[in-house]
Amino acid sequence: MIVIRNARILGGEPRDILIANGLISEIGAGLGGDTVIEAEGLIALPGLVDLHTHLREPGREDAETVETGTRAAAMGGFTAVHAMANTSPVADTAGVVEQVWRRGQEAGHCDVHPVGAVTSGLEGKHLAELGAMADSQARVRVFSDDGKCVSDAVLMRRALEYVKAFDGVVAQHAQEPRLTEGAQLNEGEVSGRLGLTGWPAVAEEAIIARDCLLAAHVGSRLHVCHVSTAGSVEIIRWAKSKGWNVTAEVTPHHLLLTDSCAEASPVGPYNPIYKVNPPLRTHDDVAALREALADGTIDCVATDHAPHPVEDKETEWAAAAMGMIGLETALSVVQEAMVETGLLDWAGVADRMSVRPARIGRLAGQGLPLEPGSPANITLYDPAVRTPVDPTAMVSRSRNTPYEGLTLPGRVVATFLRGRPTVLDGKLV
Ligand SMILES: [Zn+2]
Repeated sequence: MIVIRNARILGGEPRDILIANGLISEIGAGLGGDTVIEAEGLIALPGLVDLHTHLREPGREDAETVETGTRAAAMGGFTAVHAMANTSPVADTAGVVEQVWRRGQEAGHCDVHPVGAVTSGLEGKHLAELGAMADSQARVRVFSDDGKCVSDAVLMRRALEYVKAFDGVVAQHAQEPRLTEGAQLNEGEVSGRLGLTGWPAVAEEAIIARDCLLAAHVGSRLHVCHVSTAGSVEIIRWAKSKGWNVTAEVTPHHLLLTDSCAEASPVGPYNPIYKVNPPLRTHDDVAALREALADGTIDCVATDHAPHPVEDKETEWAAAAMGMIGLETALSVVQEAMVETGLLDWAGVADRMSVRPARIGRLAGQGLPLEPGSPANITLYDPAVRTPVDPTAMVSRSRNTPYEGLTLPGRVVATFLRGRPTVLDGKLV
């Protein structure tokens, strides 16, 4: 039996949490156990759940593996991640999703829930074997061609209809392909000054509007990946006001960074560390995204952890890969953008980073309240420290963090997966 002593559950008064047989068995004061973990000053949150992680296995093990990516997840306070399907081979069959799921079980650092591709090979031509993936051992409920948009309206409609049979959800990477040919950076003043091909907000918003209408038309469930513009927020707010079954996520980097980073980075302009899909937007967009996450229009934070090896990032802007790592810094960035600004309290953070993503992914044993009877999936977090981000100290196989040198608040001290510590004293167990 493990007892966590004096933890502030969701930022409340200090309590002891007793863990037995993988469950929270008691919460109270002066509890005893075989192993005592002092948590004075630490916040206890339900284990974080990520709806959007790129683990890169199979195929790009030079960037990340299930083993290294789930270590990074545990270090970031996550007890479950959804592994995106744009691997090589693509996770578009029961065989591939079961392979990823099994690798997650073997690694044991957090639960791995494979996302199934919507279309075979992410080619946007034929629906993948959605039913077979749902029925597989991996029990896939989230389907996405992430990295690519399901731009064909007929295919999108069919996918939305199909997933209803097993209460699945289609997670759309909203990017109208014709409007973003060659696009490099948010279309606006900064892209104009830098001479980079613009990535207009309408390319995202047009797809989201269409998909909300399609989801309503067929009575299905739509999830919008990495919302990045104020206009997208307005469309999702409207869809929700109609009672439609639409949910949405925002990444930590879209809550903190703007397109001006591409112009004014510490090492000068055109630093491809800031190149990401969807692109960093404007200050007004960031403000709208924060407000939407606070009022629940955007349901959750998802990292879009996108590891790339050095040679794919440290090149000229136009040739560089799109994406940033984010698992190990997610909670700190959310504290900086949402808690320090007074927009969310710790209960709100737990809701947006654990409860709601678990619900959207239909994960039965995650995102549950920290109370007796719940699985002991717990993150202990110290919000009081501030440290400069050091990429070399990260456990992800890749180093492409946009926060290098930035001082961020907070530190994950411990993570428990069904009562078993995966991280203690800020180190992997
Ligand atoms: Zn995406």
